[in-house]
Amino acid sequence: MKFRAIAAWLLIVISPAVLADPIERVEPPSWWTGFRHTELQLLVHGDDISTWSTSVDGNGVSITRIEKGDSPNYLFIYLDLSDAQPGSFDLVFSKSDERLTHTYELRERVPGHVGTYDSSDVIYLLTPDRFANGNPANDNIEGYADKLDRDDDYGRHGGDLEGIRRHLDYIADMGFTRVWINPVLENAMERASYHGYSTTDFYRVDPRFGSNEEYRDLVAAARKEDLGIIMDMIVNHIGNGHWWMDDLPANTWLNLPDTRSVSTHARTANQDPYASEFDQSGHADGWFVDTMPDLNQREALLADYLIQNAIWWTEYLGLSGIRQDTYPYPDKHFMAEWSRRIMQEYPDFNMAGEEWSPSPAIVSYWQRGKKNHDGYVSYLPGLFDFPLQIAMQRVLTNEEPPWGSVWTPVYEMLGHDFLYPDPMNLVIMPDNHDMSRIFTQVGEDVDLWRMAMAFYATMRGIPQIFYGTEVLMSHPGTDSHGALRGEFPGGWPDHERNAFTGQGLAQQERDAQAFTRKLLNWRKHATVIHSGKLMQFTPVGNVYAYFRYDHDDTVMVIFNRGDDTVEFDTARFAERLDGFTHGTDVISGDRVGVTSTLKLDPLSVLVLELE
Ligand code: CA
Repeated sequence: MKFRAIAAWLLIVISPAVLADPIERVEPPSWWTGFRHTELQLLVHGDDISTWSTSVDGNGVSITRIEKGDSPNYLFIYLDLSDAQPGSFDLVFSKSDERLTHTYELRERVPGHVGTYDSSDVIYLLTPDRFANGNPANDNIEGYADKLDRDDDYGRHGGDLEGIRRHLDYIADMGFTRVWINPVLENAMERASYHGYSTTDFYRVDPRFGSNEEYRDLVAAARKEDLGIIMDMIVNHIGNGHWWMDDLPANTWLNLPDTRSVSTHARTANQDPYASEFDQSGHADGWFVDTMPDLNQREALLADYLIQNAIWWTEYLGLSGIRQDTYPYPDKHFMAEWSRRIMQEYPDFNMAGEEWSPSPAIVSYWQRGKKNHDGYVSYLPGLFDFPLQIAMQRVLTNEEPPWGSVWTPVYEMLGHDFLYPDPMNLVIMPDNHDMSRIFTQVGEDVDLWRMAMAFYATMRGIPQIFYGTEVLMSHPGTDSHGALRGEFPGGWPDHERNAFTGQGLAQQERDAQAFTRKLLNWRKHATVIHSGKLMQFTPVGNVYAYFRYDHDDTVMVIFNRGDDTVEFDTARFAERLDGFTHGTDVISGDRVGVTSTLKLDPLSVLVLELE
């Protein structure tokens, strides 16, 4: 595909011009000086490039080794940058009397350019195709088969990076401080390319979303709004439209290339003390789905390529975090090395891996600092708290627990936090782009939705809210992924309802948006929620309470899951209420006494700042 072979940053000079320049790609397209890891792999792709000899000229750069794959059209040049200075140097390719020069840029790293996130943040999760269409001119791009089709839930709807950039002020005003954007790298797939999880070029933003430069500009514009960007990355698989698939560098780059067997999805094989190698491989080496070839990260050249790719985007964009897709699916030893290398370069950085398991024993296995039974050492700082999400869903949907209170699943799940080296660094969420939206989960009951929002805004960890949750986006009657990733109201000019301005929203949607804005903006300054301790009390009936507290502040969060008003004695909370007489609800501003009894409306929550 010629349109993808044109890389603007390649400055190629041919002298003398006898042969056509064979070099189609050099990846990474640029690099930086000043990294702790001073070796750089360059993938050079071009017709018969492996038959050329290679040298470097200038800037303190030297070649340490050159590797070749099975295809003659790739060279892997390893460079030593330990003495390199910012600037450029020449890669020189020669064959007989022909000589080619490719100028390669080494930039200087800018201090403070890369950010992070922590439990003082709240993350807004966006599906870029569905948030806002800022540039209708990129809705269809010649050469890309999957065209705009807004009537199709799995079609492209035209949302893009420009749409996000234009609404950064809205996101910041709502009280969010970080934005996790679903993947935007090229997905040159026949259909259903909108979700972005079928990478076909690791170094190129899909032109239907924008360009690399637009992504970088978006991150810079977000920074001005105190918003950091978290990039969604996938190292487990590629899309079958990836340019490698026409000419694999080596036959070993894919797992199961002949059978293309789909993964068993038996993720617990990673931790299972009784697992067979057959089952471990059946899970990790199987293809996620049949259009997503599974990468063999045990292949050293590919492993280096993938690690450098993550560091390249982090440094190029100035990211504030990475979300790694399907964390238990790639080779787990590679994932440890991938995380280690990134954290080595960015010790204050943060990343969250997706391990969609109901068990904290399984999820905690992957967290940095965990002492594992099998000796596995992980370097991944954070994970998504699926166990807590699943437990809270049980509470909200009133699933009858085996014992105790309707709140028992949440109460017990939090009691397992001792399994995590750092529970405060778990991302907590009522839903995400892969499951029914929270308002749909709770049967479109606004009271239950408010309880969920208050819970996630005050619980330990880092809340993540899916776009549109604040205006009660829902998808009744279907759990189709395409449907739950609906268009954000106001993101397209033909929408009658506009959540950015409030125009056309129903009263309950406006109320929900105001509730979210107030809660999150309060949280932004509530340091006791960011770093305070958590104490919970055994739920009784429909009532559940926990406290966030530190030396200066105490916040009491108390829920009534029942349909009746309850009034109860606060004596059992004396351990944390001692010294306080009143609490002010952060939403309503109501001031209530806490010394004797507390009254809670049906299906309600109070978030009380104690005084
Ligand atoms: Ca567009």
